[in-house]
Amino acid sequence: MATTTPVSEGLQRGGAFLIASSRPEDVFTPADLSDDQRLIGQTAEEFVTKEVLPLIPDLEQHKEGLMAQVLKKAGELGLLGSAIPEEYGGSGLDKVSSTVLAEKVAGYASFAVSHGGHAGIGTIPIVYFGTEAQKKKYLPKIATGESLSCYCLSEPQAGSDALASRTRAVLSPDGKNWILNGQKMWITNGGFADVYIVFAKVDGEKFSCFIVDRGTPGFTAGAEEKKMGIRGSSTVALYFENAPVPRENLLHEVGRGHIVAFNTLNVGRFSLGAACLGGAKQALVVSSKYAKERTAFGKSISEFGLIKAKLGEMAIRIFAIESMVYRTAGTIESAVAAPSAEADKTKQAMQVLEEYAIESSICKVAGSETLDYCVDEAVQIFGGYGFHEDYPVARAYRDSRVNRIFEGTNEINRMLIIQMLLKRAMAGALPLIPAAMKLGEEVLAGPSFEEGPSGPFAEEERSLAQAKKIFLLAAGTAVQKFRDKIAEQQEIVAALGNIVMDVYAIESCLRRAQKSSAARGESAAVMVDAARAFIYDALERAEKEARTALAATAAGDTLATQLAVLRRFAKHAVIDTIVIRRRVADAVLAQDRYPFEGR
Ligand SMILES: Cc1cc2nc3c(=O)[nH]c(=O)nc-3n(C[C@H](O)[C@H](O)[C@H](O)COP(=O)(O)OP(=O)(O)OC[C@H]3O[C@@H](n4cnc5c(N)ncnc54)[C@H](O)[C@@H]3O)c2cc1C
Repeated sequence: MATTTPVSEGLQRGGAFLIASSRPEDVFTPADLSDDQRLIGQTAEEFVTKEVLPLIPDLEQHKEGLMAQVLKKAGELGLLGSAIPEEYGGSGLDKVSSTVLAEKVAGYASFAVSHGGHAGIGTIPIVYFGTEAQKKKYLPKIATGESLSCYCLSEPQAGSDALASRTRAVLSPDGKNWILNGQKMWITNGGFADVYIVFAKVDGEKFSCFIVDRGTPGFTAGAEEKKMGIRGSSTVALYFENAPVPRENLLHEVGRGHIVAFNTLNVGRFSLGAACLGGAKQALVVSSKYAKERTAFGKSISEFGLIKAKLGEMAIRIFAIESMVYRTAGTIESAVAAPSAEADKTKQAMQVLEEYAIESSICKVAGSETLDYCVDEAVQIFGGYGFHEDYPVARAYRDSRVNRIFEGTNEINRMLIIQMLLKRAMAGALPLIPAAMKLGEEVLAGPSFEEGPSGPFAEEERSLAQAKKIFLLAAGTAVQKFRDKIAEQQEIVAALGNIVMDVYAIESCLRRAQKSSAARGESAAVMVDAARAFIYDALERAEKEARTALAATAAGDTLATQLAVLRRFAKHAVIDTIVIRRRVADAVLAQDRYPFEGR
């Protein structure tokens, strides 16, 4: 197990989980939430239950002004100003609290998306990049919901390739205004917002960001788009025809709009992962209740093994994403709170968020895919009723799908994970290359007779260490072959991205289960089960992805040798995951809820 380094050796950097080893006490888990943080979650959940859910039929029909009203009401309760420092009227919540909030507003996806469009990506650009005057003018009203906001990056021809934007800004001859021309597409909250964060190229070249007020002459919003899901949210195109935007409404610097755009998306994407977690828990709750009520062949369908397998697997995957989301939130929070050479606290927070961009992308991709898995299985558990709009899961199924598309598609995020890792490795910020070389030496030296881990989690510890080696083996081989052209090998990059996600998930599940087991003994048994089943499957997935990548990288004897090494790394004891899923499902069914809440 020689390739990992203790985390205490200064490897607390983004992506360092791939090469450093962590201890259970290093990893934040939902059991570590403070009473205040739990209270924030309860308040958000109660708000959604009482003030939002009863309005769903009208919201889905786009009743004029209703979503704006609901958001303003959330603002009155302080649910909109989490990202805004107290001095500008917000609550300046810590990262963990804002994660709890993002998770708990997800009871109705259209509200969660509208909330994120305003309180997340519609707010962050001003908080992190605004001038003092801009912050004073806009943030207090955004915090209360008096002004609603949105983030306007995408265009008809520029989505993933956002820098291909055609919207232009030129300074007026008198120098007082930026004159905007162009079109934006798919803008959440665009139909009712008051403040628009708009990206445009100054003189057609320098990508920049502007704050545009509703009512600006020449600026109009299109009709509501007819969407597959999240129909209660507003999504429109925006048009700019010689729209004058005051010179002082430039946000950040000319030609530095990409810094605003991408840093904002990085924060938004992490919150999206948390929101997907909340949605997935809801899908599990309704599935459990329905499974118990529905009978077939003379018994409740919840007694069938194949239904239990679904409920169990849903809970296991939710456990994995929850462990990653809260671990990431805790890591970011402690890095923000740590002493820093940077005197400007806002700037320091942005640097920390950038540091953990890899983990944020992981939470977005894994969160959205977990939610999709859960709503799909929920429809299946409901059978024909799952396909009917009068039952809750049809809408959840439609609503879920967009999460893999916005805030950077999952394809783009998978590639980003690897691009960011390699960039850090090349810059020497992350010692991946020495780790891969060390692994190479270990492989050449042949099987080790060093004693492996011992104790109740020995097998899982071994799997974690081996998964990290599997990544280094596959990534090292691919980078050696393709060097700076690796980005062109997208399928390989995605396979490596999948291994990275599973390594992070394995470690997050394992550390949480160990922590819980130490604190709660036998009562943590079902969580330990969930962790074991997840880790077992994840190691098999990692082996498969590595095999795919290696087969596309090497050939002949070299490939045969690499595959033999891979088989050695992927060796693990067989466990009965069927019985484990049944036990986890029984825990779900006992309370009709996700069984590891707050633990
Ligand atoms: C309901 C909804 C709300 C939205 N809200 C907002 C908002 O508030 N603000 C905003 O600015 N935008 C918003 N968007 C836009 C969203 O961010 C974009 O749709 C998304 O970035 C994808 O861009 P696109 O639709 O142009 O697809 P494209 O970029 O054309 O992608 C099409 C397909 O090609 C793939 N692809 C693209 N490039 C590559 C590549 N280099 N390698 C491999 N595959 C690639 C993609 O992954 C995807 O599968 C919203 C979209 C929707 C549907």
